[in-house]
Amino acid sequence: MKIVFATNNKHKVKEIKDLLPSGIEVMTLNEIGCIEEIEETATTLEGNAKIKSDHVKDGYGYDCFADDTGLEVEALGGEPGVYSARYAGENATFKDNVNKLLNALDGESNRKARFRTVISLNIDGNQEYFEGVCEGAIELSPKGTQGFGYDPIFRPIGYDLTFAEMDLSTKGRISHRGKAVQKLVEFLRNKA
Ligand code: IMP
Repeated sequence: MKIVFATNNKHKVKEIKDLLPSGIEVMTLNEIGCIEEIEETATTLEGNAKIKSDHVKDGYGYDCFADDTGLEVEALGGEPGVYSARYAGENATFKDNVNKLLNALDGESNRKARFRTVISLNIDGNQEYFEGVCEGAIELSPKGTQGFGYDPIFRPIGYDLTFAEMDLSTKGRISHRGKAVQKLVEFLRNKA
């Protein structure tokens, strides 16, 4: 089975390829020649994921899945949430976003946060959603060098390490995206 994952994020592609059974071939946006920017204009994770999977299905004809992830921080009323990638501005780097979040939580004792991923799957003309949540806490300062985004400041509940201090297979097993992908894989297996 060939399916497009509507991303060019190498970290995500590697995470997901490690979890999918060998019979499912995943192609990225670059690999199908989709180089235009897909504007994520929705106000929900579901909406943004659907925009990306519909863009590929409608424009290129491939079955496609797309994910959207938000970091929801309790003391900030769920922010940055759907705006996690642009938290410190349109062209913000991962480091800018991390610094802005640490500043926003300066002096705050409630460090509870969760990552939430929604995967939208557009397959055989049907629309499906899969959700994965990982509960945890925001560290006082960055730790570790693996991964991307907010990984150096997010410590999942029950672990002494941040995501950026973990190997990829451990993160893949317990992470928001890992859990959502496991549901996607289950669905695809039953379909195959
Ligand atoms: P996206 O919608 O999946 O691209 O995620 C939005 C933003 O959330 C990204 O730009 C990252 O900053 C952050 N993010 C998503 N997934 C992860 C993760 O697994 N670890 C750390 N940060 C993440």
